[in-house]
Amino acid sequence: MTDIAPDITNLLDLDEQGLRAFFASHNEKPFRAQQVMKWMYQQQVDDFDQMTDLSKTLRQTLKSVATIRTPEIISVETSVDGTIKWLISSGQSGAVEMVFIPEDHRGTLCVSSQVGCVLNCSFCSTGAQGFSRNLTVSEIIGQVLIAAKHLGHRTEQRRITNVVMMGMGEPLLNFDAVVAAISLMKHDYSFGFAAKRITLSTAGLVPAIDRLSDTMDVSLAISLHAPDNATRDVLVPLNRKYPISVLLESCRRFAATRHKFKVTFEYTMIEGMNDSPEQARALVRLLKTVPCKLNLIPFNPFPGTRYQCSSEQAIERFRRLVHDAGIVTTVRKTRGDDIDAACGQLVGNVVDRTRRSQRLRDQAVSLRLPEVIASDGVRP
Ligand code: SAH
Repeated sequence: MTDIAPDITNLLDLDEQGLRAFFASHNEKPFRAQQVMKWMYQQQVDDFDQMTDLSKTLRQTLKSVATIRTPEIISVETSVDGTIKWLISSGQSGAVEMVFIPEDHRGTLCVSSQVGCVLNCSFCSTGAQGFSRNLTVSEIIGQVLIAAKHLGHRTEQRRITNVVMMGMGEPLLNFDAVVAAISLMKHDYSFGFAAKRITLSTAGLVPAIDRLSDTMDVSLAISLHAPDNATRDVLVPLNRKYPISVLLESCRRFAATRHKFKVTFEYTMIEGMNDSPEQARALVRLLKTVPCKLNLIPFNPFPGTRYQCSSEQAIERFRRLVHDAGIVTTVRKTRGDDIDAACGQLVGNVVDRTRRSQRLRDQAVSLRLPEVIASDGVRP
């Protein structure tokens, strides 16, 4: 992205409160915030001259002090199954990916929160790449805006029905920006998503789960991946700090303050690691203590990993054991396989034209496609 001058405000960095303060500081009425939000998110206009319900003077002022700038798109690829993957620049820091997964009655957008990740989960390729920086509010809400524009998503014509913070990064380690971006996604003058349609996924940062619970209404997914601390310590090192019992207590607190709320537990199926019938039974004993549903994710291998995906039979046996114990259990479908491959091929095509995007591609961390919470029967 071409840099924005330091004295210019990117209005996509401001939530409603921030926009109101911004207009107040320019001696304008706070309701300008709502007018401009409608233009930016509902009309998807980034040119102040088109904002016809603002005075000419205000438009002139805005042109000199503000901008509306989404991150730069490096590439967009569409799978034969309709899955779309964007590679989005985060400037010097590299790039992040965003994925849209269309299904019959829903469209799920998977959004990134950080460039890289510090948590180093042993089965996750993002961890292996290290951490660069937090994304800003404009880079997070900008992802939704990019997808909305591409898909022709409008308030009256919803292509995106669900947003999941399951891309690169640990959203709760970028708390303020993620909360501001989610509040914009939910806002009536913006995209107006219901809280149950936005899911924040975390590896289990307990104090931040409590803070989130007090801060906003949103769906919560927990990357659990193991029923015992010895196994989870290996898969999710953060478990050493916040072990399973402490994590589940925070989930119970989160659910207790909400009406008919279920936490989604994510459980990546790794052969010989966490996929035995004993582990399924141990998981049932844990999950019985929290209002929840379970999403099994076939492990997605990446170069250099020591793990393999569980067999289909092992996944089905595991699913049946948990399901038969009365816990709603879904298995995530794998989608967009072909564009993973095409992605690698495309790199070759771009090399000669722009060295810079080649470098960005090299740095970009590939997402696990999140066919999130699929086929749980919920309709948009
Ligand atoms: N940091 C957050 C969100 C990012 S990961 C979290 O931990 O929840 C989104 C989901 O993909 C998580 O459940 C994560 O555990 C899972 N995941 C990561 N690597 C994977 C892989 N190689 N195969 C399958 N799922 C994976």
